[in-house]
Amino acid sequence: MTPYSRQSINKNDISSVVKILKSNFLTQGPIVEKFERKLSKLVRAKYGVASNSASSSLHLACIALDLKPKDIVWTVPNTFAASANCAINCGAKIDFVDIDADTWNLSLSALEKKLIKAKKNKKLPKILIPVHFAGQPTEQKKIWKLSKKYNFKIIEDASHSLGAKQSNEPVGSCKWSDITVFSFHPVKIITTGEGGMAMTNNKRLYEKMKIYRTNGVKKDLSSQLDKPWQYEQVDTGFNYRMNDIAAALGLSQVSRLKNFIKKRNQIADKYKSFFKDLPIKFQKIQNNNLSSYHLFVIQFDLKKSKYKYKEIFNRLREKKFYVNLHYMPLHLNSFFKKKGFKNGQFPVSEKYSKTSISIPIFFDLNKKKIIQLCNLIKTFF
Ligand SMILES: *Cc1c(COP(=O)(O)O)cnc(C)c1O
Repeated sequence: MTPYSRQSINKNDISSVVKILKSNFLTQGPIVEKFERKLSKLVRAKYGVASNSASSSLHLACIALDLKPKDIVWTVPNTFAASANCAINCGAKIDFVDIDADTWNLSLSALEKKLIKAKKNKKLPKILIPVHFAGQPTEQKKIWKLSKKYNFKIIEDASHSLGAKQSNEPVGSCKWSDITVFSFHPVKIITTGEGGMAMTNNKRLYEKMKIYRTNGVKKDLSSQLDKPWQYEQVDTGFNYRMNDIAAALGLSQVSRLKNFIKKRNQIADKYKSFFKDLPIKFQKIQNNNLSSYHLFVIQFDLKKSKYKYKEIFNRLREKKFYVNLHYMPLHLNSFFKKKGFKNGQFPVSEKYSKTSISIPIFFDLNKKKIIQLCNLIKTFF
């Protein structure tokens, strides 16, 4: 079976993990900090807070930005549950901004319209969570300008986009946001098994995320000089820590990041040239962007295909290509429908989800499979 994405583990990845298993610390040793420093340096952020998942990191980010019940958070419908859950788990209200029909990222014009209306109704968001869909950065600089005008904070959900760049600025530098979150789930760009990291340039946010990652406990090194046993619980919190086994894998994987991105871009180019004469649409990559290609999505012109969406999906799966849909619009899940969201509210995301399929893209995907898949897809027209 060929999945839409999967990890690539080499000998060095394995030996790095084995080394930790034989060491003194499986968790709370020195490796997590080492991983945090290495990734921060790579993406040019001042600080990184590693955790046990991007979902946890998104939650920590919302807490650090002081998200409270009755506050409003906006994200896109074309994303994974975690982009909204982080806000809901703080008691905040969630709302959505539709995506652009070509970039499949947050639509800037939809955002501007919604902000103007929200200002009139006094319903402006406290936080906006743009998602770098499939690995392509959102128009961060313009979103940042809007955040200054309308006074909201920005958490970039960069779960798809480690290694991506915008105007030569690495995603994660937080040049145009408050916090940026990466995921290290095995389908993502690099893996730690499960894991995530929140990047920021703000020391206060950094320290707050560290406290809430460890049950609300603050280690105050200065008072430890006087009382070496000293630590202080300042609030309730969570155990969202990453362990050293995971961090060792992450450190080893980061050293392979450039190759991962290169290979994913090569596969994307292959698909694009194979499909160029078919009625298939790809994600429009904006000029100043380098995508990390976590996903490769093809959008079918179903009027020109022999089969319906479901038939295409099943035919691919029958031939052992485990394709997926990213994403069924969040607002159409029963959880959100119960909150009053309806069909037709975010038409671009809805239309996208009826015609799009993520096909395999990952480091160890071989040429033979790519050709086999492409030839199969050609028979659909
Ligand atoms: C994978 C993903 C997450 C959650 O990542 P985990 O590390 O699995 O918690 C959040 N947002 C998006 C867009 C994702 O794709």
